[in-house]
Amino acid sequence: MTEIDQLIKQQISLPSPPAIAVKILNTVQNPECSLADLEQIISADPALTSKMLRIANSAIYSLPNKVGNINRALSILGTNLIKNIALSFVIASDLRGAGESAFDFDYFWRRSVTAAVAAELIMALIKDKDDDIFVAGLLQDIGVLVLSLSKGKEYGAALKNCIANGGTGLADSERAMFGFDHQQVGCLLLESWGIPESISTPARFHHDPDLAPTKYRRTAQVLKIANLLSTICNGTEATNHVRELQERMSISFATNPEVSRQLLDDVARKSMDILQIFEIDPGKIKPYSQLLQEANEELGRLNLSYEQLLLALKEAKDKSERFADDLRQANDRLEQIAFRDGLTNLYNHRFFQENLQREMARTKRYGHPLSLVMFDIDFFKDVNDTYGHPAGDQVLIALANAICSAVRPSDIVSRYGGEEFTVILPATDRIGMRVFAERLRRCAAAITTNFNGHSIKITISCGGVQYSQDDTITQQEFIEAADKGLYLSKKNGRNRVTIITFDPKDR
Ligand code: GH3
Ligand code: MG
Ligand code: MG
Repeated sequence: MTEIDQLIKQQISLPSPPAIAVKILNTVQNPECSLADLEQIISADPALTSKMLRIANSAIYSLPNKVGNINRALSILGTNLIKNIALSFVIASDLRGAGESAFDFDYFWRRSVTAAVAAELIMALIKDKDDDIFVAGLLQDIGVLVLSLSKGKEYGAALKNCIANGGTGLADSERAMFGFDHQQVGCLLLESWGIPESISTPARFHHDPDLAPTKYRRTAQVLKIANLLSTICNGTEATNHVRELQERMSISFATNPEVSRQLLDDVARKSMDILQIFEIDPGKIKPYSQLLQEANEELGRLNLSYEQLLLALKEAKDKSERFADDLRQANDRLEQIAFRDGLTNLYNHRFFQENLQREMARTKRYGHPLSLVMFDIDFFKDVNDTYGHPAGDQVLIALANAICSAVRPSDIVSRYGGEEFTVILPATDRIGMRVFAERLRRCAAAITTNFNGHSIKITISCGGVQYSQDDTITQQEFIEAADKGLYLSKKNGRNRVTIITFDPKDR
């Protein structure tokens, strides 16, 4: 006995085998026993007999003709297979446990029977023959049941965790907790019951087939994949496992993914039959094609709601963009109302006053000169009187447009009132201002406004004044000085420019 075996025996009380199982095992092992002895044992238990016949006639053995009695079954299926079927029933019904137990016996046997069916079907698929495969599949996890019965609560938590993780990592946590795992416990139990090593050894390595002795490696590989199939059929989270299944099948048996899908369907369908014979509630086992369809429907629903989400987001975005647009337009309108003159679209009187104040402050601070030009249309009353007020309006608009194209972007042109305008010229001294005002005067004189077949010409009179850092005048005085220049231009014959200086002799 190995150290591990001793460790297991110290910690775990191994259940004794069901009496009928012992009888069956002894009978087959005894070379002097005949088929009739095995038949007799099985026939003594009518329930077992009926189960045996149902399983012999089930889809997993696909016999061409119906088998009506144990004798026929024995001759068709062979002693070893019949022995194994009988063992499966006996052990599975004996180790059902009390209803009170925290261990979910139904789940355990459901998984085990599914794994046994899967193992049988894989063997058939790879055209291998192994009479022991069903019982090996059924009992591969028997160590879990034994550990559960011995270690109770301590083990229950690890088991729950493992089931929640889709059946992975259990052997690792067992080794960390006890120093051995359920493969070793199961193997020891089966050996102690006299179950042949063709069953116990593959079960010992069903998580690590590569570590199995060469002779049993293939069976261990089949068990590992059967386990995976059972997990998929009995689990909720299947996608990753299906991928793993396809990979393992392809590596171990060189099959294509379609074969794995077909196998999954077969396992689910045939397990439902076999579980009934074992009197185990088939639970929520579903054929893979159905799982796939459900997954696709779920995906469809998710996609739909994702698209709806996108749509809602887009709507919200459009709405906020429309809102931002409205806001921008409202601001533009507000600015228009607040700062622009409705007829000419030039800045209004209020904007002129605010900006003049700001520019005077900048001059005080930074020292660059600031010039202000005021101009007024000459004899504008005559235009209105001659051509009508609308004609006058057209002239005002034409003049505003012409001025705007004649100024620098930093210059601020405003309608001061009526037919009187101002231009604020930042960073411009009186020489520059004179040049500008002359250009403005010529520009106005060059305008021809066509109205109702009339060509209307105008001239303007300009007054200008420069403000410097050292000047102590107020804003009002600054405007009045420009207006004085304008007045002087009118007085001196119109269509001219007068620049005022604050030099005492000019005042
Ligand atoms: P001066 O050369 O001395 O400036 O003579 P003027 O006729 O231009 O001066 P006055 O101040 O007597 O007349 C200004 C005219 O401008 C009177 C007024 O009806 C007209 N006016 C003011 N605002 C508007 C306007 O928005 N549209 C029109 N069509 N006319 C306007
Ligand atoms: Mg005028
Ligand atoms: Mg006027």
